[in-house]
Amino acid sequence: MGSRQVTAWHGKNITVAGLGVSGISAARALAGLGALVTVVDGGDSEGHRARAAELEAAGVSVRLGDAQTLPEGTDLVVTSPGWKPDGPLFAAAAAAGVDVVGDVEIAWLLREVAEDRRAARTGEPRREPAPWLAITGTNGKTTTTQMLASILKAAGLRTAAVGNIGTPIIDVVLGEETYDVLAVELSSYQLHWAPSVRPHSAAVLNLAPDHLDWHGSMEAYATDKGRIYEGNTVACVYNAADKATEDLVVEADVEEGCRAIGFTLGAPGPSMFGVVDGILVDRAFVENRQKNAQELAEVADVNPPAPHNIANALAAAALARAFGVEPRAVRDGLRDFRPDAHRVSHVDEVGGVTYVDDSKATNTHAAEASLAAFEPVVWIAGGLAKGATFDELVQKAAKRLRGVVLMGADRALIAEALARHAPEVPVVDLARTDTGAMLAAVREAARLAEPGDTVLLAPACASMDMFANYSKRGDAFADAVRELAAEQA
Ligand code: ADP
Repeated sequence: MGSRQVTAWHGKNITVAGLGVSGISAARALAGLGALVTVVDGGDSEGHRARAAELEAAGVSVRLGDAQTLPEGTDLVVTSPGWKPDGPLFAAAAAAGVDVVGDVEIAWLLREVAEDRRAARTGEPRREPAPWLAITGTNGKTTTTQMLASILKAAGLRTAAVGNIGTPIIDVVLGEETYDVLAVELSSYQLHWAPSVRPHSAAVLNLAPDHLDWHGSMEAYATDKGRIYEGNTVACVYNAADKATEDLVVEADVEEGCRAIGFTLGAPGPSMFGVVDGILVDRAFVENRQKNAQELAEVADVNPPAPHNIANALAAAALARAFGVEPRAVRDGLRDFRPDAHRVSHVDEVGGVTYVDDSKATNTHAAEASLAAFEPVVWIAGGLAKGATFDELVQKAAKRLRGVVLMGADRALIAEALARHAPEVPVVDLARTDTGAMLAAVREAARLAEPGDTVLLAPACASMDMFANYSKRGDAFADAVRELAAEQA
């Protein structure tokens, strides 16, 4: 079987779109299996040329400065997540009847080959490839995937958080390490280009408009997210507070016996995970679920214990329990988990006011979740809106707002929504889009805040108008808070 699979790649003409991290990983892996690989990229900078030279040394052809023409004789295109599916390269592939897939699909297809090679290399018996527990959603993917990996580790399982995070997934599948199970974060882009992936179990955390410029419509975006449930064998985990996620389970073509498992911040019904008296409970993977519930952890074990993050913990717990993990490991894994920076991170307390960095709240759905965790709150927002509207967010947050400080390119959109739905809330419009605006924003927020309040950076927008990325924006916020603390000391 193994040799047949390797043969399938040998001599194949594969075009890899994009000289980024995933493209390089795919190109190297496929060239290593004897494929004839050409990487195409529209860029032609010094950095591009340096990366191209390295790949060429590994036997890969690279074509820079033209991302549009499909190389002659291409049998398969492997694309990178950022590439829009309506681009000319893909139109050319469609016209030529050539399939397009992403790196996640390649990783999935290489699982068997990887195990053959591992057995040959180590002389140990051949194992089955590690099953995938997969996670998608508009927000909370990285956090939930890391929580899940932490729980699986606490259960003594060999695992890694992969996919849209960390080491490229192809490198993990083909690498030296052996895994019992993988916690796989999948973006909607990756799902779009991964038709054969069949997770053991999967979760869609939530569904709100995002990346619609890429997918073309909310329906297309939801369809791509829903692909994660295809072929699940044990559990399709959905958010009971977000009907769209449940609808995707209903539509999915799963294996016989696979169950729909909901999670809720309230008391769970049978086949659900939820919260009772500050305790996270499992009412799905227990004997006699009509009557019983299994205690898993306390809300205080979740870090940070904000409502949206408790939802993430429940989803991670549901996937872990679907894989047979003991309740104790759920608790230990959640306790061990430390969130990545810029995700509702506590920065400092200055003059009785708490400063929280949620720079990763780059869309309105995320900002809504973090605003819901604080009251009263001075909200720092603005940046690139990516086509979003702010009325719903402002309506929901209005009664919690002590004040708002706006900056960034699309701040007027937020200002207009505030004028419509929260006219009594004081708003400072910094009318700035330079990097230094962050210190001014923090000073204004400090002026609006009263002791006991929280100042929350949750921009609801992308950062690239003012900063290199969301993490630089969060760093600028933390620096500004430190400066404020020094001024007030
Ligand atoms: P993703 O990988 O999907 O971008 P992250 O785990 O990195 O998600 O979190 C991104 C941001 O989304 C967080 O900073 C927080 O503002 C918000 N967020 C996290 N979990 C949720 C959730 N379950 N629902 C809504 N917003 C969330």
